[in-house]
Amino acid sequence: MRKPIEGIHHVTAMASDPQANVDFYTGVLGLRLVKRTVNFDDPGTYHLYYGDERGHPGTIITFFPWPGARRGVQGAGQATVTSFSVPQGSLGYWTQRLSRLGVTHEEPRPRFDEEVLTFLDPDGLRLELVAVAADPRSPWEGGPVPAEHAVRGFDGVTLTEWNAHVTEETLAGPLGFRRVAEHGDRIRFEVGAGGPGARVDVLAAPSAVRGHVSAGTVHHVAWRSADEPDQLAWREAVAEAGLYVTPVLDRQYFKSIYFREPGGVLFEIATDPPGFTRDEPVESLGSGLKLPPWLEPSRQQIQDALPPLEVRP
Ligand code: ZN
Repeated sequence: MRKPIEGIHHVTAMASDPQANVDFYTGVLGLRLVKRTVNFDDPGTYHLYYGDERGHPGTIITFFPWPGARRGVQGAGQATVTSFSVPQGSLGYWTQRLSRLGVTHEEPRPRFDEEVLTFLDPDGLRLELVAVAADPRSPWEGGPVPAEHAVRGFDGVTLTEWNAHVTEETLAGPLGFRRVAEHGDRIRFEVGAGGPGARVDVLAAPSAVRGHVSAGTVHHVAWRSADEPDQLAWREAVAEAGLYVTPVLDRQYFKSIYFREPGGVLFEIATDPPGFTRDEPVESLGSGLKLPPWLEPSRQQIQDALPPLEVRP
């Protein structure tokens, strides 16, 4: 019997300039770069992972930065917003910080029982900070943001859908999400214990443009599974629901299966183990270029082809 999904494992998005990506997610948002590796399917480009100190599941946003990549289109069939949890009372700090650092943002506004601050990353990726009353997760304290205001991990993601109903059937059916709230064109679902990190909002947008994945858009959303046997049980459940699901793929830091929900958003189910300390100690996570064993023989060529990258203090 498979265990319930505990929440978001990671979100993967597309970017253009890798250094601008590092500067924003470490220097502005205050996350830790927990892994610098390459796109295993295209080792000429980076794959960058950001999160809390260890890159716990539920805190990890990852990017494929392609220098010079064109902007994608945010629209239907995509996760169009990625939301992070910050402590209640922090949005004043964040509004000032984003203004001072020249980040495009809106003013905080209410949604359900919380306040939300919307802003854009350098590629136009739509992000939110949600002021959450109770989030027990510890922030990364090595970044530029004081711990009292720092990001705790994800709050949730928003999926934009032409037909919210077919997406709801998959979320509430095989994936086990619960419909917990609704306001206007937004339906909120939770999974596992619920709360920050275990939420997804579905926005019904029958007249939205179709999304096109490139820089500034989310590529996929990954959900958590406890371990490899649990993931295999999930694979079976997804296939039984009539969705095409890939074989298990080895992503070094977790194992992955992928499928599209009927509205077109690419979902992944990823295992919690082994995590990012698999190939470097927690103290030095993200400091060196890490390659999977099958790419190590090509390390020199790969390194020479990648642009230099630094985490600036
Ligand atoms: Zn993924």
